Amino acid sequence: MRFVDVALPVPLRRVFTYRLPEAADAHDRVEVVVGHRVAVPFHGRKLAGIVIETHDRTPSFETRSILGLVEPEPVLSRELGEFLREAADYYLHPLGEVLRAALPALRADAVRGLRRRGAIGDVDELHGARVSRRTETIARRSRAPLPARLGPRQREVIAIVEARGEISLAELEALQPGARAHARALAKRSLFDLEEREVFADPFFASPVDRDAPRTPTDEQAHAITRLGAAIEARETHTFLLHGVTGSGKTEVYLQAIAAVRASGRGAIVLVPEIALTPQLVTRFRARFGDGIAVLHSELSERDRLEAWERLRRGEVSLAIGARSAIFAPVRDLGIVVVDEEHDPSYKQEEGFRYHARDMAILRAKRAGAIAVLGSATPSLESFQHAQRSQLGGRGHHVMLELTRRATERALPKVEIVDLSRTGAGPSGDPLITLPLHRALEATLEAGDQAVLFLNRRGYAPTLRCKRCSAIASCPACSVSLTEHRRAGMLRCHYCDFATPLGTPCALCGGPDLEPLGLGTEKVEAQLERVLPSARIARLDRDVASGAGVEEVLARMRRREIDVLVGTQMVTKGHDLPGVTLVGVLLADQSLAFPDFRSAERTFQLLTQVAGRAGRGEREGRVIFQTFQPNEPAITCAVRHDYLAFAKDELGKRKELGYAPFGRLVAVRIDAPDESLAERVAQELATLARGTDACVRGDVDVLGPAPAPIARVRGRFRQRVILRGRDRKRLREIAIAILARIDEGIAPARATVDVDPINML
Ligand code: ADP
Ligand code: ZN
Repeated sequence: MRFVDVALPVPLRRVFTYRLPEAADAHDRVEVVVGHRVAVPFHGRKLAGIVIETHDRTPSFETRSILGLVEPEPVLSRELGEFLREAADYYLHPLGEVLRAALPALRADAVRGLRRRGAIGDVDELHGARVSRRTETIARRSRAPLPARLGPRQREVIAIVEARGEISLAELEALQPGARAHARALAKRSLFDLEEREVFADPFFASPVDRDAPRTPTDEQAHAITRLGAAIEARETHTFLLHGVTGSGKTEVYLQAIAAVRASGRGAIVLVPEIALTPQLVTRFRARFGDGIAVLHSELSERDRLEAWERLRRGEVSLAIGARSAIFAPVRDLGIVVVDEEHDPSYKQEEGFRYHARDMAILRAKRAGAIAVLGSATPSLESFQHAQRSQLGGRGHHVMLELTRRATERALPKVEIVDLSRTGAGPSGDPLITLPLHRALEATLEAGDQAVLFLNRRGYAPTLRCKRCSAIASCPACSVSLTEHRRAGMLRCHYCDFATPLGTPCALCGGPDLEPLGLGTEKVEAQLERVLPSARIARLDRDVASGAGVEEVLARMRRREIDVLVGTQMVTKGHDLPGVTLVGVLLADQSLAFPDFRSAERTFQLLTQVAGRAGRGEREGRVIFQTFQPNEPAITCAVRHDYLAFAKDELGKRKELGYAPFGRLVAVRIDAPDESLAERVAQELATLARGTDACVRGDVDVLGPAPAPIARVRGRFRQRVILRGRDRKRLREIAIAILARIDEGIAPARATVDVDPINML
């Protein structure tokens, strides 16, 4: 092989061909294989790129030679490399950028100072920061006999080290200030051996967990586990949809399937929607498998991420858990990929490389010869439809596994509807804290139980209106109203960083008085504190908790230090809070109003998930949905815990409109600093699309251009064009034509192409 094609971290939709250097002696020649990282010259810079292909096809242009290997081992296995290529191709995204997004540990700017050990020549300076590893120095007694003459402090240090066998200098110093210097001096006299060792520090491993043993599965769990086990043993590559009601014990099924994979010496990836919101799940995995787990999460430092990545690549650890980007983890010999809460919209990456981690999980599992297990109480209609078709003997490709009952004796909670158009406010006077809800809260508190209230709107009030001219306070850069954050004393835009102090006069008439309208979680908390003075009220939303803060609130809830927890969709996630017997949804219709074809599905999912938080412990649960639309199927079906009825109704509507899972979409989003430019570019791209063969033949519809539902964000005007069709190939042809036009340059306008879009705002 004389040439290599290299993917570089540059926004170009192509790879670059370089020459391999001639070796003076065949002996010296270092073999470069797919997955190796190489340093190459690129427009006067040195960049690190990944070898995608090696070949002997002499290019028609002058090639330059690679500068060297960045490290002796390939960083990507063939399996992972090919998967990433396919992902880049599917989403029509530059491979170099896909690699960069997928492998945060390997960012080009993280390789400076790494030296190659092969025979090609030194890679000295690659731009960017140095990768430093955290190490600690361990002290141990050497075999050298102790001399007679030692100071009393030195004797103490020796005594500690002998008692402990080995100890880090940092810990030694903490036990006895000044001991570090003594230890170093003793090492000089050969009485101590010092050793540098890498440390692996991670907040998810901060506290030890007790080990647990597999539980005796329920009949339904046993059926699922057996079916998965058979697939693992036979090395099938099916996708399974584990549809299990909330509390049915899906996690136990994952655990036992993964145990089977591990027993056969293979690896596993577990995807969770947001790792900060699911600390319990990580704990359960640790309890079952010990610390041989790599937890990949956004709070890891670059160094720790690299560490975790390396441990997986070397095969020291074979189980990776993380949010969407963990689908790219370099787990060896993959046997299973689990996607928990597969319906969750956070699996879609919404900027840069816009991929859907659930779809990529299916792809990677297939390529790696592994099974994919998608779990949910409320499967996405896409996944459900695939499983449906296969049950009916059709072309569908998912195998359905069902858990219809809770794993514990508890039945699903009873759900009541409060019709907001006929029900008055309780003592707080706020129309969304109705009298029935207030009474239910009182009863719960009286029984010594806990309640969760869900309202998907943070802040105190979502809108402020000028008392003089009735204008609504809105963001100067975005077409949205400002939210009052009373505790912080600010009005904030939830789409950009704009903030202004509370008390800022009306922007239109200068009127001094703005009146808050509507209700956010902060105000619910304040109102409840007023009318339920003896209750301990807490809030869970992005304003009060992020990262580890979430776990802290949940831990307080579990310790019963909170009676009522008010929160945004953070409270709807899979938390297992046995003391919760009441769940109240303040405004069930809220997400129904979204201009998005998935709004009913999203509403049904949120309601079902939050209802599932009630009655998971000893006592029966009770759920209240407050709504202005008590007859909407998304709401009535959630009341009855009837996923099948909802899916049937909603699939009927989707079929009529040609939306997923019956049709595919590609969203083209255009934005520009002025409105007319955005419109002009959008129009041009739509016209281009309409002129393609696929459109002319009627295989693909072009919808728009139209302003996006939020027409302006951060001072840029937004337009969109939607491509809709059944055939992926046809859609792809048009998307490629549009991308080619975008790549020619449309500045200062910008445009992106989103294959299988989720966010329609
Ligand atoms: P899901 O993820 O389906 O909502 P979980 O996995 O959180 O459900 O399980 C709900 C509860 O049931 C947990 O407390 C779990 O420990 C318990 N559980 C699961 N399987 C069993 C079993 N086979 N026997 C007893 N308890 C179980
Ligand atoms: Zn704004």
